[in-house]
Amino acid sequence: MDLNFSSEDEAFRTEVRAFLDDNLPEYLRAGMRATPSVFVEPDIGREWQRILYEKGWLAYNWPLDCGGTGWTTVQRYIFEKECALADAPGLPVLGLKLLGPVICRFGTAEQKAEILPRILNGTDYWCQGFSEPGAGSDLASLKTRAEKKDGHYVINGRKLWTTHAHHASHIFCLVRTNPDCKPQAGISFILVDMAQPGIEVRPIKGLAGDHEVNEVYIDDAIAPFENLVGEEGQGWTIAKFLLENERGGACHAPKLLADIRKLRQAAAREPDGLGGSMAEDSAFMAALAFAELESQALEMTELRVLAEMAKGLPPGPQTSLSKMIASTLRQKVDGLAVRLFGYAGLALEEVRPLYGNDSPEPLYGKEAQLAAPRYLNSRAWTIFGGTNEVQRTIIAKTVLGL
Ligand SMILES: Cc1cc2nc3c(=O)[nH]c(=O)nc-3n(C[C@H](O)[C@H](O)[C@H](O)COP(=O)(O)OP(=O)(O)OC[C@H]3O[C@@H](n4cnc5c(N)ncnc54)[C@H](O)[C@@H]3O)c2cc1C
Repeated sequence: MDLNFSSEDEAFRTEVRAFLDDNLPEYLRAGMRATPSVFVEPDIGREWQRILYEKGWLAYNWPLDCGGTGWTTVQRYIFEKECALADAPGLPVLGLKLLGPVICRFGTAEQKAEILPRILNGTDYWCQGFSEPGAGSDLASLKTRAEKKDGHYVINGRKLWTTHAHHASHIFCLVRTNPDCKPQAGISFILVDMAQPGIEVRPIKGLAGDHEVNEVYIDDAIAPFENLVGEEGQGWTIAKFLLENERGGACHAPKLLADIRKLRQAAAREPDGLGGSMAEDSAFMAALAFAELESQALEMTELRVLAEMAKGLPPGPQTSLSKMIASTLRQKVDGLAVRLFGYAGLALEEVRPLYGNDSPEPLYGKEAQLAAPRYLNSRAWTIFGGTNEVQRTIIAKTVLGL
């Protein structure tokens, strides 16, 4: 693998940096810096989406014929890295990065024409209805039913841990359309409008005080037949495609490395309690250096996956490795922040958001205020998108052939 970027790629990096300098306002950067949760709130996420949409840089993981940017995988990586370094807010992932590619691959011409532009221009905000009580790791045992009745699907069941369902206008769901066959073969992928009486969203407040996830009660909700994506019974195949995209093609290392860089700068300012700074605490600095080395190794792995994808290969099961390592590192880096800020990093502020005019004054400093909420929120990393135990099983079976 050639680790040097070509002159075209370097020119692209310069173009991205210049765009970020000119178009990413400070209030969005500040909002991102003050977000302790995985998903950013729609006020900053959608605003950044609008800016990128106007530039035509939004659908960078979609095929060109569906409105994608046509960037190479290296360009995508450069873009994500520069965004991480510039504190750009996260984008609404569920529509843009998960559903969009599914519609491009499995959708009908009508679905592409109807759904994709509405994702891009921000009209629709999507959430993901896969998990249920008793169907998380064992997703194939899901029970939500969709039955054909009176000219449409009638859906009943309950979805759990549904991120941003309280903001969403639509939910893409895995549902059981056939209970009388092998569990995987009876699952379908269906699009449901949230604005109907059969849908009730109940909040779940996280450990750190964030409202990110929800329960979604589905009681005789209705979806027209044309909301089925792919064939009936093809939901499992579509879900595997979506989950591989969710785990792979993602660039976690740039954000980790950007956060480590900030911790290094903060260490030079934070007192160590012995008259010096934390930058002189050799145990802390060694732990930080180790996390940095591991993040650099992850970056190489992520680049390797991108290099495979550049050859036209799918992200593949080795992306489980990236997801697992990235999750563990995320928790390690957020743990180091708590260690760095000492007592100041233990205070748990539950008010959200932690940016804007109404945000609470930090007791010590902004970075310290974020340490505990981030540390607690990042516990979820080794769970969502498939737990680390499940990733290990995938690696053992499909990568190592055990
Ligand atoms: C913050 C957050 C956001 C989420 N957002 C969404 C969302 O938007 N949409 C959505 O559909 N889902 C979402 N999820 C759900 C997530 O995908 C599931 O939580 C995850 O798949 C685990 O399922 P579970 O919670 O049912 O745990 P379980 O599957 O019950 O697992 C419990 C424990 O048992 C272990 N375990 C289970 N099976 C095995 C096995 N075969 N071998 C070894 N160990 C095993 C697990 O690793 C885990 O430690 C979210 C979860 C979180 C925490």
